[in-house]
Amino acid sequence: MNPQHDATVQSLQTQIADYYARKVPFRVYHGSTNSTRVLTFKRSEMVDISTLNNVLSIDTAKRTVVVEPNVPMDKLVNATLKYGLVPPVVPEFPGITIGGAIQGAAAETSSHTYGCVSQTVNWIDYILGDGSLVRTSPEEHADLFYGSAGSYGSLGLITATEVNLVPATKYVKVTHYQISSFSEGVELMKKYANQGSDFVEWYMFSKTRGAVVIGTMTNEVAGRLLRFSRPHDNWYFLYVKSIAAKGKPVTDSMPLKDYLFRFNRGAFWAAEIGFKDYGLPFNRLVRFLFDPLLRTRKLYQVLQESAASQSYICQDIMLPEQGMVPFLDYMDKEFNMYPLGGCPIKPEPRSPLQCNGMDTDLVFNLGVYGLRVEPYEKFVAANRQIEAKTNELGGKKWFYSHNYYSADEFWKVYDKPWYDALRTKYKAVTLPDIFTRTRVTEQYKVSKRRGVLRTVFGIAKLRITD
Ligand SMILES: Cc1cc2nc3c(=O)[nH]c(=O)nc-3n(C[C@H](O)[C@H](O)[C@H](O)COP(=O)(O)OP(=O)(O)OC[C@H]3O[C@@H](n4cnc5c(N)ncnc54)[C@H](O)[C@@H]3O)c2cc1C
Repeated sequence: MNPQHDATVQSLQTQIADYYARKVPFRVYHGSTNSTRVLTFKRSEMVDISTLNNVLSIDTAKRTVVVEPNVPMDKLVNATLKYGLVPPVVPEFPGITIGGAIQGAAAETSSHTYGCVSQTVNWIDYILGDGSLVRTSPEEHADLFYGSAGSYGSLGLITATEVNLVPATKYVKVTHYQISSFSEGVELMKKYANQGSDFVEWYMFSKTRGAVVIGTMTNEVAGRLLRFSRPHDNWYFLYVKSIAAKGKPVTDSMPLKDYLFRFNRGAFWAAEIGFKDYGLPFNRLVRFLFDPLLRTRKLYQVLQESAASQSYICQDIMLPEQGMVPFLDYMDKEFNMYPLGGCPIKPEPRSPLQCNGMDTDLVFNLGVYGLRVEPYEKFVAANRQIEAKTNELGGKKWFYSHNYYSADEFWKVYDKPWYDALRTKYKAVTLPDIFTRTRVTEQYKVSKRRGVLRTVFGIAKLRITD
């Protein structure tokens, strides 16, 4: 494929074959994460793929790009935009990698058309648990191609993939439709998803105030031309919130990249919490001064170092249409936590571990972030309540977050005989399974001061022990 790529893959194959012979359960380390669980790696039980971070080739006639797994979204988009092309599904945090996106079920506001990132690729190369290398696609090893999506690295190691591309435009025009109930939001999202709108998402700021936001790729500016990526710009979430109060549809435009990474500053509304915790005024000047710390790559470092994810609810749920309003009513009554947000997603029943692995027409994602629940026992109980309600309504969770299911509860949702057979067939039985990888078993000491200081001084990094 490329001499440097081939050499790196061969050396990883040797390392993995050795782990297999010694029955060592290894994990993938790539230097960063957009998962919220506090991660700890053992040097003697990990495979470091940090250097697999190259865009290998772009075929403008076929509209495809071949990439290594540790290529982050901003690097991928910058590479393809040079040719006037862009991936159809670009998860909105620029540090999300293509390998993590396939394994972690990443999706975006174009996913009602294209599905998750894994549904936009033509093939994926995997090193299996025994060190052998296979190409998977809808034609070759299709069971692994589909089954490994959303499997969190528990079925093999991605070494390269070919991603489809679509023509890029200069701008995205966004129209905000104000809504005053959950059911109105679901209906409107369904309507625009079925019409084939480019981007569909929604927000609720209370039970009776929200917006459905429809994006259109265009080369013309409509309304104001807004930016959200520079330190002095507004945060996208604050802009949406201000429009939701207007009482009539509002249309504005922004450059394509500003739209794709619109939540990079502030991580949706998550970073606002930090201002309250530190008693800082939440105004434009302070956001400008602290801007380098308020971008998602840095915020994730703070999160990992501080273990703050063990006191704030952060879950993403995927529900069939009929489950949405009951779930939202339940969340309103039990937790009253706002804002909420999400988007509709095309399902993929052939990928049952992926959060949209459901046999229905359209699924709806809902992000519930930000409520502080302490002490830890109450926090775990709240997460378990949300998990139970999700199951009751036929939904699935996005596994980047905390998972508190018991093994019995977990395997009632996911098909263990199917999963075990796939792991046996593809020699993955020595790898930690998906339940073990995503379940939180350890309580960490939450220290926001440690998280902020280590990030400010540039010494924050994922925990690796010997
Ligand atoms: C508040 C919040 C909101 C979010 N909203 C969205 C959203 O709207 N859309 C969205 O798409 N995502 C969202 N995410 C997160 C996201 O979907 C996942 O966290 C993301 O897919 C992980 O990408 P990553 O590159 O950081 O991978 P990691 O978190 O590092 O890895 C994810 C899994 O993939 C495995 N893995 C990584 N690389 C490989 C490889 N090469 N081979 C095999 N296994 C591998 C890892 O071991 C891990 O199990 C959100 C997260 C948060 C916290």
